[in-house]
Amino acid sequence: MIEPPTSPQGIRLRPGTIPVSHRYTAGVAGQRFFRALADRGVFLATRCAPCAVTYCPARAFCERCMAALHEEVEVGPEGTLASFTVVRLGLDGRRLAKPVTVGAIRLRGADTVLVHRVGGDPGSLAIGATVEPVLRDPARRTGSLDDVECFLLVRRAPGEPRAEPEAEQIKLSE
Ligand SMILES: [Zn+2]
Repeated sequence: MIEPPTSPQGIRLRPGTIPVSHRYTAGVAGQRFFRALADRGVFLATRCAPCAVTYCPARAFCERCMAALHEEVEVGPEGTLASFTVVRLGLDGRRLAKPVTVGAIRLRGADTVLVHRVGGDPGSLAIGATVEPVLRDPARRTGSLDDVECFLLVRRAPGEPRAEPEAEQIKLSE
């Protein structure tokens, strides 16, 4: 066929798969972010003063002005739910046994958002709500975002001490 196709049905399809494997490294700033999360249970961010932007997770360069970032700050642990959605299909396209809520969370002191699971009833969530992380037991942390089990809605009154919330087990593949 040398003429351009005029409809998708006119394209010859040869089904097949291409095996591709990835080895992803967290990078210099990412390693420090995950180390701080695993060892101290804190969220590390980097700040670009000229742009007045605090990035969390920490990154090595400012994506606005490309300057190397050296100023580290801790942000959170509470944050604001900037957006959320309820995921009903898994990565394989099959319906999940239980829907998973995924939120974009702006940790207190950060300007960027962290994407993570949000536990609890999604019907009780609202954009702008305050959420807090449920961290894995320190002995089980591996230096990954899964060291945060999920974020949960903060229901206590202002000033009331934090109770350790029970994390519900949320898995994307069931
Ligand atoms: Zn900058």
